[in-house]
Amino acid sequence: MISFELAEPKTLNEAIALLDAEDPEVRPISGGTALMLMMKSGVFRPSRLVSLQKVEADYSRIERGSNGSLRIGAMASLSQVEHSDEVRRVAPVIEKTMRHLSNVRVRNVARLGGNLAHGDPHMDLPPVLSSLGAKAIVAGPSGQREILIEALFSGYYETVLKRDELITFVEVPPQAGWSSSYIKCTTRSADDWPALGIACSLRIEGGSIGDVRLMISAATEKLTRLVSTEKVLRGQKVNEATFERAGESAMAEAEVIGDSRGSASYKSELVRVYVRRALRQAGLGETQP
Ligand SMILES: Cc1cc2nc3c(=O)[nH]c(=O)nc-3n(C[C@H](O)[C@H](O)[C@H](O)COP(=O)(O)OP(=O)(O)OC[C@H]3O[C@@H](n4cnc5c(N)ncnc54)[C@H](O)[C@@H]3O)c2cc1C
Repeated sequence: MISFELAEPKTLNEAIALLDAEDPEVRPISGGTALMLMMKSGVFRPSRLVSLQKVEADYSRIERGSNGSLRIGAMASLSQVEHSDEVRRVAPVIEKTMRHLSNVRVRNVARLGGNLAHGDPHMDLPPVLSSLGAKAIVAGPSGQREILIEALFSGYYETVLKRDELITFVEVPPQAGWSSSYIKCTTRSADDWPALGIACSLRIEGGSIGDVRLMISAATEKLTRLVSTEKVLRGQKVNEATFERAGESAMAEAEVIGDSRGSASYKSELVRVYVRRALRQAGLGETQP
Protein backbone atom coordinates (compact mmCIF):
# COMPACT_ATOMS: atom_id res chain seq x y z
CA MET A 1 0.00 0.00 0.00
CA ILE A 2 1.40 3.38 -1.03
CA SER A 3 0.79 6.18 1.43
CA PHE A 4 0.03 9.62 -0.02
CA GLU A 5 -1.84 12.79 0.88
CA LEU A 6 -5.34 13.21 -0.61
CA ALA A 7 -6.37 16.87 -0.84
CA GLU A 8 -10.02 17.71 -1.53
CA PRO A 9 -10.17 21.44 -2.26
CA LYS A 10 -13.56 23.13 -2.61
CA THR A 11 -12.48 25.70 -5.19
CA LEU A 12 -10.48 25.61 -8.42
CA ASN A 13 -8.06 28.22 -7.09
CA GLU A 14 -7.32 26.12 -4.01
CA ALA A 15 -6.79 23.10 -6.26
CA ILE A 16 -4.27 25.00 -8.40
CA ALA A 17 -2.44 26.21 -5.27
CA LEU A 18 -2.09 22.60 -4.09
CA LEU A 19 -0.38 21.52 -7.34
CA ASP A 20 3.37 21.79 -7.75
CA ALA A 21 5.01 22.86 -11.01
CA GLU A 22 8.26 21.09 -10.05
CA ASP A 23 7.01 17.84 -8.48
CA PRO A 24 5.79 15.02 -10.78
CA GLU A 25 4.49 13.09 -7.75
CA VAL A 26 1.79 15.70 -7.15
CA ARG A 27 -1.15 15.27 -9.55
CA PRO A 28 -4.77 16.27 -9.96
CA ILE A 29 -7.28 13.44 -10.01
CA SER A 30 -10.73 13.66 -11.65
CA GLY A 31 -12.52 10.30 -12.05
CA GLY A 32 -9.38 8.33 -11.24
CA THR A 33 -10.11 5.61 -13.84
CA ALA A 34 -6.70 6.08 -15.48
CA LEU A 35 -4.68 7.24 -12.50
CA MET A 36 -5.79 4.42 -10.18
CA LEU A 37 -4.71 1.80 -12.75
CA MET A 38 -1.30 3.48 -12.96
CA MET A 39 -1.03 3.46 -9.17
CA LYS A 40 -2.12 -0.16 -8.83
CA SER A 41 0.45 -1.27 -11.39
CA GLY A 42 3.18 0.76 -9.65
CA VAL A 43 3.79 3.00 -12.70
CA PHE A 44 2.84 6.07 -10.66
CA ARG A 45 3.51 6.64 -6.93
CA PRO A 46 2.02 9.96 -5.80
CA SER A 47 3.04 12.02 -2.82
CA ARG A 48 -0.17 14.07 -3.12
CA LEU A 49 -3.35 13.70 -5.15
CA VAL A 50 -5.48 16.80 -5.59
CA SER A 51 -9.06 15.64 -6.09
CA LEU A 52 -11.22 17.86 -8.30
CA GLN A 53 -14.46 16.17 -7.22
CA LYS A 54 -15.50 18.95 -4.82
CA VAL A 55 -14.60 22.04 -6.84
CA GLU A 56 -17.40 24.43 -7.80
CA ALA A 57 -20.30 22.87 -9.77
CA ASP A 58 -19.65 25.39 -12.58
CA TYR A 59 -16.86 23.11 -13.78
CA SER A 60 -19.31 20.25 -14.49
CA ARG A 61 -21.90 22.33 -16.32
CA ILE A 62 -22.71 21.96 -20.01
CA GLU A 63 -24.05 25.07 -21.75
CA ARG A 64 -24.94 26.05 -25.30
CA GLY A 65 -24.09 29.60 -26.38
CA SER A 66 -26.59 31.79 -28.24
CA ASN A 67 -24.35 31.48 -31.37
CA GLY A 68 -24.59 27.65 -31.29
CA SER A 69 -21.27 27.03 -29.51
CA LEU A 70 -20.87 24.59 -26.65
CA ARG A 71 -19.05 24.98 -23.33
CA ILE A 72 -18.47 21.82 -21.32
CA GLY A 73 -17.01 21.86 -17.80
CA ALA A 74 -13.94 19.63 -17.54
CA MET A 75 -15.43 17.91 -14.48
CA ALA A 76 -18.52 16.75 -16.42
CA SER A 77 -18.57 12.96 -16.48
CA LEU A 78 -18.45 11.24 -19.86
CA SER A 79 -22.01 9.99 -19.19
CA GLN A 80 -23.20 13.55 -18.59
CA VAL A 81 -21.68 14.55 -21.93
CA GLU A 82 -23.21 11.50 -23.62
CA HIS A 83 -26.75 12.26 -22.41
CA SER A 84 -26.70 16.04 -22.78
CA ASP A 85 -29.33 17.51 -25.12
CA GLU A 86 -27.08 20.54 -25.67
CA VAL A 87 -24.21 18.33 -26.83
CA ARG A 88 -26.51 16.34 -29.13
CA ARG A 89 -27.89 19.53 -30.71
CA VAL A 90 -24.49 21.08 -31.44
CA ALA A 91 -22.36 18.01 -32.20
CA PRO A 92 -24.21 14.68 -32.47
CA VAL A 93 -20.92 12.98 -33.35
CA ILE A 94 -19.89 13.30 -29.68
CA GLU A 95 -22.90 11.34 -28.47
CA LYS A 96 -22.31 8.64 -31.12
CA THR A 97 -18.67 8.36 -30.06
CA MET A 98 -19.65 7.86 -26.43
CA ARG A 99 -21.74 4.78 -27.21
CA HIS A 100 -18.56 2.82 -27.96
CA LEU A 101 -16.20 4.53 -25.54
CA SER A 102 -15.40 1.81 -23.01
CA ASN A 103 -18.46 0.88 -20.93
CA VAL A 104 -21.11 2.66 -18.89
CA ARG A 105 -19.28 2.04 -15.60
CA VAL A 106 -16.17 3.84 -16.84
CA ARG A 107 -18.21 6.62 -18.49
CA ASN A 108 -20.10 7.26 -15.24
CA VAL A 109 -16.86 7.90 -13.37
CA ALA A 110 -14.39 9.33 -15.91
CA ARG A 111 -14.39 13.10 -16.52
CA LEU A 112 -13.81 15.05 -19.69
CA GLY A 113 -10.73 16.81 -18.25
CA GLY A 114 -9.13 13.49 -17.27
CA ASN A 115 -9.84 12.01 -20.67
CA LEU A 116 -7.98 14.85 -22.39
CA ALA A 117 -5.15 15.38 -19.89
CA HIS A 118 -4.12 11.72 -19.74
CA GLY A 119 -2.45 12.05 -23.16
CA ASP A 120 -3.12 8.46 -24.21
CA PRO A 121 -3.20 8.47 -28.05
CA HIS A 122 -5.90 5.75 -27.97
CA MET A 123 -8.54 8.00 -26.39
CA ASP A 124 -11.64 8.51 -28.55
CA LEU A 125 -12.59 12.07 -27.64
CA PRO A 126 -9.42 14.01 -28.59
CA PRO A 127 -9.71 13.25 -32.34
CA VAL A 128 -13.45 14.01 -32.33
CA LEU A 129 -13.12 17.30 -30.43
CA SER A 130 -10.16 18.32 -32.62
CA SER A 131 -12.09 17.71 -35.81
CA LEU A 132 -14.81 19.97 -34.41
CA GLY A 133 -12.20 22.72 -33.88
CA ALA A 134 -12.61 22.61 -30.08
CA LYS A 135 -10.24 24.19 -27.58
CA ALA A 136 -9.39 23.57 -23.93
CA ILE A 137 -9.52 26.43 -21.44
CA VAL A 138 -6.65 25.90 -19.03
CA ALA A 139 -6.10 27.63 -15.67
CA GLY A 140 -2.86 27.95 -13.70
CA PRO A 141 -1.25 30.22 -11.09
CA SER A 142 -0.65 32.95 -13.66
CA GLY A 143 -4.15 32.92 -15.16
CA GLN A 144 -5.94 31.31 -18.08
CA ARG A 145 -4.89 30.23 -21.55
CA GLU A 146 -6.58 28.51 -24.47
CA ILE A 147 -5.16 25.48 -26.27
CA LEU A 148 -6.68 23.92 -29.37
CA ILE A 149 -7.32 20.26 -28.55
CA GLU A 150 -5.34 19.32 -31.68
CA ALA A 151 -2.30 21.09 -30.14
CA LEU A 152 -2.68 19.65 -26.62
CA PHE A 153 -0.59 16.53 -27.18
CA SER A 154 3.19 16.68 -27.43
CA GLY A 155 4.02 12.96 -27.50
CA TYR A 156 3.09 9.50 -26.29
CA TYR A 157 1.18 10.12 -23.02
CA GLU A 158 2.52 13.68 -23.05
CA THR A 159 0.65 16.96 -23.18
CA VAL A 160 1.70 20.61 -23.27
CA LEU A 161 0.01 21.20 -19.89
CA LYS A 162 2.24 22.42 -17.06
CA ARG A 163 2.15 20.40 -13.84
CA ASP A 164 0.28 23.19 -12.04
CA GLU A 165 -2.31 23.77 -14.77
CA LEU A 166 -5.83 22.35 -14.94
CA ILE A 167 -8.20 21.95 -17.85
CA THR A 168 -11.33 23.80 -16.74
CA PHE A 169 -13.59 23.85 -19.81
CA VAL A 170 -13.79 22.61 -23.36
CA GLU A 171 -15.32 24.97 -25.92
CA VAL A 172 -16.72 23.71 -29.20
CA PRO A 173 -17.34 26.41 -31.84
CA PRO A 174 -20.68 26.56 -33.72
CA GLN A 175 -20.98 23.66 -36.15
CA ALA A 176 -23.50 25.13 -38.60
CA GLY A 177 -22.50 24.11 -42.14
CA TRP A 178 -20.18 21.32 -40.99
CA SER A 179 -20.86 17.59 -40.94
CA SER A 180 -18.72 15.24 -38.89
CA SER A 181 -17.94 11.59 -38.35
CA TYR A 182 -15.74 9.41 -36.19
CA ILE A 183 -14.86 5.83 -36.93
CA LYS A 184 -13.13 3.73 -34.36
CA CYS A 185 -11.65 0.49 -35.63
CA THR A 186 -11.33 -2.08 -32.86
CA THR A 187 -9.72 -5.45 -33.37
CA ARG A 188 -11.42 -7.02 -30.34
CA SER A 189 -14.87 -5.93 -28.99
CA ALA A 190 -16.73 -2.86 -30.36
CA ASP A 191 -16.13 -0.83 -27.20
CA ASP A 192 -12.46 -1.80 -26.87
CA TRP A 193 -9.59 0.62 -27.17
CA PRO A 194 -9.22 1.50 -30.85
CA ALA A 195 -6.50 0.19 -33.15
CA LEU A 196 -7.26 3.27 -35.21
CA GLY A 197 -9.46 6.33 -34.79
CA ILE A 198 -10.34 8.63 -37.70
CA ALA A 199 -12.36 11.80 -37.13
CA CYS A 200 -13.31 14.25 -39.83
CA SER A 201 -15.40 17.36 -40.30
CA LEU A 202 -16.34 18.65 -43.73
CA ARG A 203 -17.85 21.92 -44.87
CA ILE A 204 -19.52 21.28 -48.18
CA GLU A 205 -20.15 24.16 -50.58
CA GLY A 206 -22.02 23.53 -53.83
CA GLY A 207 -21.13 19.83 -53.98
CA SER A 208 -17.41 20.43 -53.26
CA ILE A 209 -15.33 20.29 -50.09
CA GLY A 210 -14.95 23.90 -48.94
CA ASP A 211 -13.02 23.05 -45.80
CA VAL A 212 -11.98 19.95 -43.86
CA ARG A 213 -10.39 18.87 -40.58
CA LEU A 214 -9.05 15.29 -40.59
CA MET A 215 -7.57 13.66 -37.49
CA ILE A 216 -5.92 10.30 -36.84
CA SER A 217 -5.38 8.69 -33.44
CA ALA A 218 -4.48 5.35 -31.86
CA ALA A 219 -2.31 4.21 -34.81
CA THR A 220 0.11 7.10 -34.37
CA GLU A 221 2.33 8.15 -31.45
CA LYS A 222 0.06 11.08 -30.73
CA LEU A 223 -3.11 12.59 -32.09
CA THR A 224 -2.21 13.98 -35.53
CA ARG A 225 -3.88 16.23 -38.06
CA LEU A 226 -3.47 14.94 -41.61
CA VAL A 227 -2.71 18.31 -43.17
CA SER A 228 -1.41 17.06 -46.53
CA THR A 229 -4.50 14.93 -47.05
CA GLU A 230 -6.69 17.90 -46.14
CA LYS A 231 -5.00 19.80 -49.02
CA VAL A 232 -5.80 16.90 -51.36
CA LEU A 233 -9.46 17.21 -50.31
CA ARG A 234 -10.07 20.99 -50.38
CA GLY A 235 -11.94 22.14 -53.45
CA GLN A 236 -12.67 18.59 -54.66
CA LYS A 237 -16.07 17.14 -55.51
CA VAL A 238 -17.77 15.11 -52.79
CA ASN A 239 -17.62 11.71 -54.45
CA GLU A 240 -16.08 8.26 -54.18
CA ALA A 241 -13.03 9.11 -56.34
CA THR A 242 -12.12 11.99 -54.00
CA PHE A 243 -12.48 9.78 -50.93
CA GLU A 244 -10.28 7.10 -52.49
CA ARG A 245 -7.54 9.59 -53.32
CA ALA A 246 -7.71 10.88 -49.74
CA GLY A 247 -7.40 7.33 -48.36
CA GLU A 248 -4.23 6.77 -50.43
CA SER A 249 -2.85 10.14 -49.35
CA ALA A 250 -3.56 9.48 -45.66
CA MET A 251 -1.86 6.10 -45.86
CA ALA A 252 1.27 7.78 -47.25
CA GLU A 253 1.12 10.67 -44.78
CA ALA A 254 0.39 8.98 -41.44
CA GLU A 255 3.39 7.83 -39.39
CA VAL A 256 1.80 4.65 -38.13
CA ILE A 257 3.17 2.54 -35.27
CA GLY A 258 2.25 -1.04 -34.43
CA ASP A 259 1.08 -2.28 -31.04
CA SER A 260 -0.85 -5.16 -29.47
CA ARG A 261 -3.89 -4.25 -31.61
CA GLY A 262 -2.13 -4.59 -34.95
CA SER A 263 1.19 -4.31 -36.78
CA ALA A 264 2.20 -1.03 -38.45
CA SER A 265 1.58 -2.46 -41.94
CA TYR A 266 -1.89 -3.70 -40.95
CA LYS A 267 -2.79 -0.35 -39.40
CA SER A 268 -1.46 1.45 -42.44
CA GLU A 269 -3.92 -0.44 -44.61
CA LEU A 270 -6.65 0.36 -42.06
CA VAL A 271 -5.85 4.07 -42.48
CA ARG A 272 -6.49 3.87 -46.24
CA VAL A 273 -9.85 2.14 -45.78
CA TYR A 274 -11.11 4.03 -42.71
CA VAL A 275 -10.25 7.52 -43.97
CA ARG A 276 -12.37 6.74 -47.03
CA ARG A 277 -15.22 5.46 -44.86
CA ALA A 278 -15.10 8.39 -42.42
CA LEU A 279 -15.18 10.88 -45.31
CA ARG A 280 -18.05 9.03 -46.95
CA GLN A 281 -19.96 9.09 -43.67
CA ALA A 282 -19.44 12.82 -43.15
CA GLY A 283 -19.82 13.75 -46.83
CA LEU A 284 -22.71 11.56 -47.86
CA GLY A 285 -24.27 10.82 -44.47
CA GLU A 286 -23.68 7.08 -44.88
CA THR A 287 -23.55 4.92 -41.79
CA GLN A 288 -20.62 2.71 -40.98
CA PRO A 289 -20.75 -0.70 -42.69
C1 LIG B 1 -11.40 -0.59 -18.71
C2 LIG B 1 -11.21 0.74 -19.39
C3 LIG B 1 -11.46 0.84 -20.75
C4 LIG B 1 -11.34 2.07 -21.41
N1 LIG B 1 -11.61 2.18 -22.73
C5 LIG B 1 -11.54 3.38 -23.35
C6 LIG B 1 -11.88 3.57 -24.73
O1 LIG B 1 -12.24 2.64 -25.44
N2 LIG B 1 -11.78 4.82 -25.25
C7 LIG B 1 -11.37 5.89 -24.52
O2 LIG B 1 -11.32 7.01 -25.03
N3 LIG B 1 -11.05 5.75 -23.22
C8 LIG B 1 -11.14 4.54 -22.63
N4 LIG B 1 -10.82 4.41 -21.31
C9 LIG B 1 -10.15 5.53 -20.65
C10 LIG B 1 -11.05 6.41 -19.91
O3 LIG B 1 -11.78 7.14 -20.84
C11 LIG B 1 -10.07 7.28 -19.13
O4 LIG B 1 -9.52 6.47 -18.12
C12 LIG B 1 -10.75 8.45 -18.55
O5 LIG B 1 -11.33 9.25 -19.52
C13 LIG B 1 -9.80 9.32 -17.73
O6 LIG B 1 -10.65 10.20 -17.03
P1 LIG B 1 -10.57 10.30 -15.46
O7 LIG B 1 -11.43 11.43 -15.07
O8 LIG B 1 -10.84 9.01 -14.79
O9 LIG B 1 -9.01 10.69 -15.31
P2 LIG B 1 -8.04 10.50 -14.08
O10 LIG B 1 -7.64 9.09 -13.96
O11 LIG B 1 -8.56 11.17 -12.88
O12 LIG B 1 -6.80 11.37 -14.61
C14 LIG B 1 -6.09 11.04 -15.80
C15 LIG B 1 -4.91 12.02 -15.96
O13 LIG B 1 -5.39 13.33 -16.19
C16 LIG B 1 -4.93 14.24 -15.16
N5 LIG B 1 -6.07 15.13 -14.93
C17 LIG B 1 -7.31 14.74 -14.53
N6 LIG B 1 -8.15 15.79 -14.59
C18 LIG B 1 -7.43 16.86 -15.02
C19 LIG B 1 -7.73 18.23 -15.30
N7 LIG B 1 -8.97 18.72 -15.16
N8 LIG B 1 -6.74 19.03 -15.73
C20 LIG B 1 -5.48 18.55 -15.90
N9 LIG B 1 -5.12 17.28 -15.64
C21 LIG B 1 -6.09 16.44 -15.22
C22 LIG B 1 -4.54 13.36 -14.01
O14 LIG B 1 -3.53 13.95 -13.20
C23 LIG B 1 -4.01 12.13 -14.74
O15 LIG B 1 -2.71 12.37 -15.19
C24 LIG B 1 -10.93 3.19 -20.66
C25 LIG B 1 -10.65 3.08 -19.29
C26 LIG B 1 -10.79 1.87 -18.65
C27 LIG B 1 -10.52 1.79 -17.17
